[in-house]
Amino acid sequence: MHMESLHDLFVNELRDLYNAENQILKALPKLAKSCSSEELRQALEEHLEQTRGHVERLEQIFDKLGLKARGKKCEAMEGIIEEGKDLMDEDLEEAVLDAAIIESAQKVEHYEMAGYGTVRTWAERLGCHEEAELLQQTLDEEKEADDKLTQIAESAVNLQAMGAGR
Ligand code: FE
Ligand code: FE
Ligand code: ZN
Repeated sequence: MHMESLHDLFVNELRDLYNAENQILKALPKLAKSCSSEELRQALEEHLEQTRGHVERLEQIFDKLGLKARGKKCEAMEGIIEEGKDLMDEDLEEAVLDAAIIESAQKVEHYEMAGYGTVRTWAERLGCHEEAELLQQTLDEEKEADDKLTQIAESAVNLQAMGAGR
């Protein structure tokens, strides 16, 4: 695809994120089902709800830009999810499995944070202020989800995982 402007690159990354979010929508329920920590399951389920909102915000943005909401396969998200699945397929002790779920979920969040931070900044630069505002809202929710996962890991899951296999 020929891209000659920052605007083209901006749209390209919005499409990548749109596809990534849709992949996450499919993957999160399986992760949530595998949790043994109730707190972790709840956090993932809440984030699944938020992720539906992220998809909708991107659709609003495509609409504002006069474009059809269309994704472009995000190879990176496919890889992150694939790696997580491979890890889940290993024979993990319950408490260790929860630590692995947090590991995978935080890789997803960090990838999203990088993408949303970039498109938010480009949107501002391009004078797309309403789009920038919507992207900032999603970025804030990704950060909150990531912080919540850190808190669950540090307050409970890592300790339980340390106790496993002794
Ligand atoms: Fe998201
Ligand atoms: Fe991507
Ligand atoms: Zn997310």
